[in-house]
Parts: sequence; structure tokens; C-alpha cells
Amino acid sequence: MIEIKNLSKSFGELQVLKNIDLHVKEKEVVVLIGASGSGKSTLLRCLNFLETAEAGDIIIDTEKINPAKTNLNKIREKVGMVFQHFNLFPHMTVVENIIEAPVHVKGVSKDQARSKAIDLLKKVGLQDKANFYPDQLSGGQKQRVAIARALAMEPKVMLFDEPTSALDPELVGEVLQVMKDLAREGMTMVIVTHEMGFAKEVASRIVMLADGNIIEEGHPNEIFSNPKHERTQRFLNQIL
Ligand code: ADP
Ligand code: MG
Repeated sequence: MIEIKNLSKSFGELQVLKNIDLHVKEKEVVVLIGASGSGKSTLLRCLNFLETAEAGDIIIDTEKINPAKTNLNKIREKVGMVFQHFNLFPHMTVVENIIEAPVHVKGVSKDQARSKAIDLLKKVGLQDKANFYPDQLSGGQKQRVAIARALAMEPKVMLFDEPTSALDPELVGEVLQVMKDLAREGMTMVIVTHEMGFAKEVASRIVMLADGNIIEEGHPNEIFSNPKHERTQRFLNQIL
């Protein structure tokens, strides 16, 4: 579903991603881990073309993307993204937030988009909040709306960048539950998270980044019980 070959990205003098190779198969859930500043967000942002890598190839759903030539809105329809800070439109209700892109980017009719939005709100357990504004919701509820909004575009892949890091601890579980449901339904996902219990349960593969390199990857059972790289051991000791 995703194939990254030899991807490099710098900000000025600082090379943040160094020849990254990563393949994600359909229905795989890949959890990216690594210290702050290791390049996790940059890698996700390159996958959604919020950043342009200076070298390397990105193939999504068999299509090789050349950012100069490809309509990036089309790519972003295939790749949904959920951020740490929910980025909902504050002046729009929940349902208006969800139908915005399907109606204005994809050209879906308002009625159709609305009915799909209600289904998605049921899926994330928020059908009674359709007409609320974001500031009337808890952080966990806002994040579930953000997930519904991304799903409304019917993406092939979902990217999550620390979706629970900004939440009060008691609200983390409800967001992780929605992500577990998505995994169970076979959504292909790349997730940056420090929730290692979740990663152990849901990840098909853990990928450890350090200084812009993938230094280790494998099944969660291997990585958590027997990390091979010294930096992975140190990182896991710090957060577990
Ligand atoms: P992580 O998500 O793993 O914490 P990031 O991908 O956010 O790491 O950042 C990796 C490195 O790139 C950091 O040193 C960060 O300061 C730098 N960086 C990220 N975005 C930018 C930017 N837009 N301009 C300059 N430097 C950036
Ligand atoms: Mg980050």
C-alpha cells in the first residue's frame, strides 16, 4: 500500500530523514517509535505531502507520486491524517467539519456527505454530538471527530501523529478504542504513539527511528522483549 524508497529530507543544514526505506502492506498497522526529534512527524508529513522530500520515491496504492506533477489533493484523499492537536474548524459544527472536504474537495452531494457523516459519528460513538461545536466537546471527543473527518474521505491509509498525546489520561482509551476498531476492520495505518500497550496489542510491526534512520523494526513481541539495538533498549526503558 505504501512503498518508501531512499527518502531523504532536510531542513536547511539539518538532515532529518536519511535514506528511509519502508514498505507498508495493505491492512498492516505500523507503529513508529523513537525519541523526540528523531523524524517521526516529518516522515508522516512526507507521506501526506505536507512536506516535500528532496530525494527518494513514495508509492501509494501502486501510484508513484511526483509532487511537482501529481494533484496533491487527490493523494490526500487516499491518505487520511490525524494530528496531536485535532485541528477542527472551530466555527463549524461536528457534522459540518466532517462534510467539508467530501463536499468541497470530492464534490459529494451535501445530503450524501451528511448521511455518511452520521454513520461515521455512530462508528466513533458520537452520533448525539452532530450539531455541537468543537469547543463543546472534550479532547477525546474532538479527536474522535477528527478521525471521523479523515475517514469521510474514504482513505486507503490512515496516518496518526501522536493522536492521544494532548489528551487527559482518562480520555486516551476512547480514542485508542476507535483506532483498534479501525485496525480490526483492516484499515492500513501508520501510527506515531508512545502508547506501548496499544502498540503491543495492535501493531503488525514496530519501526524504531533514531536520528532520521530506521535502526530496527520487527513484530512487537520481538521488539519489546528482545530489542537488538542499544538505542531501542534505552528508548523503551525510558518510556515503559
Ligand atoms: P519527531 O516527530 O520524531 O519528534 P520531527 O520530525 O518533528 O521529530 O523533527 C525532526 C527534526 O526536524 C527536529 O530536529 C526538528 O526540530 C526538525 N524540524 C521539524 N520540522 C521542521 C521545520 N519545519 N523547519 C525546521 N526544522 C524542522
Ligand atoms: Mg512529532
